[in-house]
Amino acid sequence: MAHLLPEIEALDADMRAWRHHIHAHPETAFDEHATSAFVADKLRSFGLEVHQGLAGTGVVGVLRNGGSTDAVGLRADLDALHILEKSAVAHASRHEGKMHACGHDGHTTMLLGAARAMAQRRHFDGTAYFIFQPAEENEGGGRVMVKEGLFDRFPMKAVYGMHNWPELAVGKIALRAGPLMGAYDIFEIVATGQGGHAAMPHLGRDPMPFAAHVINALQTIVARNIHPLESGVVSVTQVHGGDTWNVIPNEVVLRGTVRTFQPAIQDLIERRIGEIVTGLASTFDMTATLRYERRYPATINTAEETRHALAAATALVGADNVDTNPMPSMGSEDFAFMLQEKPGCYVWLGGGRGPGTPNLHNPHYDFNDEALAIGASYWVTLAEAQLPAKAAVRQAA
Ligand SMILES: [Zn+2]
Ligand SMILES: [Zn+2]
Repeated sequence: MAHLLPEIEALDADMRAWRHHIHAHPETAFDEHATSAFVADKLRSFGLEVHQGLAGTGVVGVLRNGGSTDAVGLRADLDALHILEKSAVAHASRHEGKMHACGHDGHTTMLLGAARAMAQRRHFDGTAYFIFQPAEENEGGGRVMVKEGLFDRFPMKAVYGMHNWPELAVGKIALRAGPLMGAYDIFEIVATGQGGHAAMPHLGRDPMPFAAHVINALQTIVARNIHPLESGVVSVTQVHGGDTWNVIPNEVVLRGTVRTFQPAIQDLIERRIGEIVTGLASTFDMTATLRYERRYPATINTAEETRHALAAATALVGADNVDTNPMPSMGSEDFAFMLQEKPGCYVWLGGGRGPGTPNLHNPHYDFNDEALAIGASYWVTLAEAQLPAKAAVRQAA
């Protein structure tokens, strides 16, 4: 059983109510106005200094205690997804077509709970920053916050992140130094030939065989160019071309995604896609363009901060419940942009209810409330251990 902090245990019912409120009122990327206002109000009521407006709907709560200039950041995400909720829970989405299917309602709630408990306990000397970022899904709100000066305005030695993980049983925490989540890139290949009558292919330049060869050749990058013990994914996810039976189209468009953990492999895959497209375009007498865009970098935990996160996780749930060597995920996470600027560690918090637990982004998913007190206790344990100790001085909160 986890060693929950008493201040957090006392908040459990409140946290569940906050989580259900946020879940029922999901807002998507950069549109999290009501959620952001809810967070800011709560932080103010706990006695924190509140900064709004970073990346639009972002919120930073500042909790200072004592005279130390030491500071750490804890980060949660505010946004929901464009998914029609199919769960039957009483707090199901009231906003049709939008849903907290990634558990950011739980993340926001746990960080609020931690802010409340730390403001009550005052067991530290320094500053804790509570970072609530918008638009984690697709739109890179974390990148925007960093670009708009998050770490200049709120200087901190390290930043920590957490995501609920339904594949991991509730009560467990998983983490590792190095990459935990993949980099997310996209590509688009537009092939232009010369359309015409399908019965007279020799009079045109058909982009279809070119597209077929490109799809096949792209699959050789991971299989033939990457070290067998390294990893990468190249997935073609869209093929667009042609409208009818007897016409060779002028153009075919291919789109897809690349996932990697190592920047050198990311560079290699991007280079090889370019070489394959150029080489096959020449072979098939096509005009082909490639757009390659790096969306999210890999989420890479630094060694020392991973040790701090491990110590906090072990103190909370016990060594038997901490997985220190989880298989990294090729999913991606825009907390990666914060880790490019500051040392830190991102962990997975168990949320599984056993076999059949709906996974993230599933329309039946619902954040596991049993994880709220564990996640909030982890935040407080970690932040207090990262800041110089101070005897508890209770202040009005
Ligand atoms: Zn998600
Ligand atoms: Zn998420």
